[in-house]
Amino acid sequence: MSLKFREFAEFCSILERISSTLEMTARIATFIKKIEDDNDLYNVILFLMGQVYPTWDERELGVGVGLIYEALKVVSGVDRRRIEQLVKEYGDLGLAAEKLIRGKSQMTLFAEELTIAKVREIFDKIASLEGEGSQKRKIMLLTDLYVSATPIEARYLTRLVLGEMRLGVGEGIIRDAIARAFLVDPELVERAYMITNDLGRVAVVAKNRGKEGLKELKIELHVPVRMMLAQVAESIEEAIREMKNVAVEWKFDGSRVQVHWGNGKVTIYSRRLENVTKALPEIVEAVKRCVKEGVILDGEVIAVKDGKPMPFQHVLRRFRRKHEITKVMGEISLIVYFFDILYNDGEVIDLPLEERRKILESVVKENEIVRIANQIVTNRKDEIERVFREALDAGHEGAMLKNPKSPYIPGKRGKHWLKLKEVMETLDLVVIGGEWGEGRRSHLISSFELACRDPVTGKLLPVGKVGTGFTDEDLEELTELFKPLIEYEEGRKIKFQPKIVFEVAYQEIQKSPKYESGFALRFPRFIRVRDDKSPEEADTIERIAKLYESQLKKKKA
Ligand code: AMP
Repeated sequence: MSLKFREFAEFCSILERISSTLEMTARIATFIKKIEDDNDLYNVILFLMGQVYPTWDERELGVGVGLIYEALKVVSGVDRRRIEQLVKEYGDLGLAAEKLIRGKSQMTLFAEELTIAKVREIFDKIASLEGEGSQKRKIMLLTDLYVSATPIEARYLTRLVLGEMRLGVGEGIIRDAIARAFLVDPELVERAYMITNDLGRVAVVAKNRGKEGLKELKIELHVPVRMMLAQVAESIEEAIREMKNVAVEWKFDGSRVQVHWGNGKVTIYSRRLENVTKALPEIVEAVKRCVKEGVILDGEVIAVKDGKPMPFQHVLRRFRRKHEITKVMGEISLIVYFFDILYNDGEVIDLPLEERRKILESVVKENEIVRIANQIVTNRKDEIERVFREALDAGHEGAMLKNPKSPYIPGKRGKHWLKLKEVMETLDLVVIGGEWGEGRRSHLISSFELACRDPVTGKLLPVGKVGTGFTDEDLEELTELFKPLIEYEEGRKIKFQPKIVFEVAYQEIQKSPKYESGFALRFPRFIRVRDDKSPEEADTIERIAKLYESQLKKKKA
């Protein structure tokens, strides 16, 4: 018998009241330890994090706020206005759903009790629906869920469907809870996670096969691996001191991709490990033609027009566009520059970069779309500077300085890879609200409310609004992007689900009592959507405070 969803929901409501990370970890460990069924364990781990599928899985529910409103209308018999009122009152659709279900008629008494397995089954059905009539079917399935739900179950079902549990349970807590429940080292859990990107699967392996099982987990084709990241280089001298010989490459201004090529198919993942294969058909074709089968490669896709690189926004536009790819294909062409290899008929991440590089060169036959990033190995400052300038002149971001002796460490932002860039400090902030424009722009959302993250509480703290830096075309596109995220409107003002991150420039950071963060941005300007970042990766209040301090120091100087 599968675990009752009610038990899970009640457990969530306990977690929601706990603020201590340690206590939360302990409680989750105790809870998951008791789960007997592997599938239940898998699902509970994902559900606690507000996920129905691992982020890289192509399946998704495709249920926005709108469909939830529809389903709630059906079960509760109230109109949309009333539901919006409740959402405003409680500040959360989950709590509004709970309230509505509490008031619903007696039919629940005869409905089937929900289990984790049943919820999973309905979710899988919802995710499999496509095309004509699918919206209606989705509303019906959601309605079925709500009909069987008790009020507290409705709260967490709603949040789960929207991907936001509001429990403050992040990956770190889940990792530690798995370690604690099944008596394994948290670092082993972390490593297994970086390789599989599926904590549900990691939990099941830890439960059944412990330490040994986790150690045996290896990189697999078509399962994305967390990407290795770079730190900012303090200076070229420091890099030389640190590494002795430095492998220098251009830092291309494009989008990171991990390309899996094997078993007759190519799969491409973005930096956020989303499956972007469909958006890049010409890369898929070229890889099949020019690369030996049975490999996982790491690289950067850039957009070019008349031989010049285009801002990386163009590549991201392609990622976003799931349909009508062929229409945009002609306009800009793409090139992929590979700079690393993780798998060659087996894992190669523990080999030093210099050896991986040799393998990379042996498996890729370059053509006009598939390239290998140029690399020089040197211990001379002037050589490094030359490559840096060359990259900037060619319209790229700067240079990457890598340690030729280093392994590939998935998910690591460490000293083995350093990035050298021209500095302009921008902020990556979460968009939490907006406003409809006026006059000519009244059909467009033309200003956006921004927030930074409080890493301790997970709260989003407003820091201001951005209304400049957009072209009309940007606004058209952004309006389409944000419409499905509207929670409610009040006059021209809109409240969004916090899903999208903007990169913004600004003239100055000021102290301000007006915003909850205590700071405000002076003259913020939109640079781009950071599709490659999730809200959890947005800048924190601490970074803003730090920038504020360094700004003060500069002023004094
Ligand atoms: P950042 O996003 O500023 O932390 O810089 C790291 C990013 O630079 C990587 O995630 C890649 O998308 C990009 N990049 C461009 N060229 C290279 C390169 N040659 N090696 C590694 N990363 C690169």
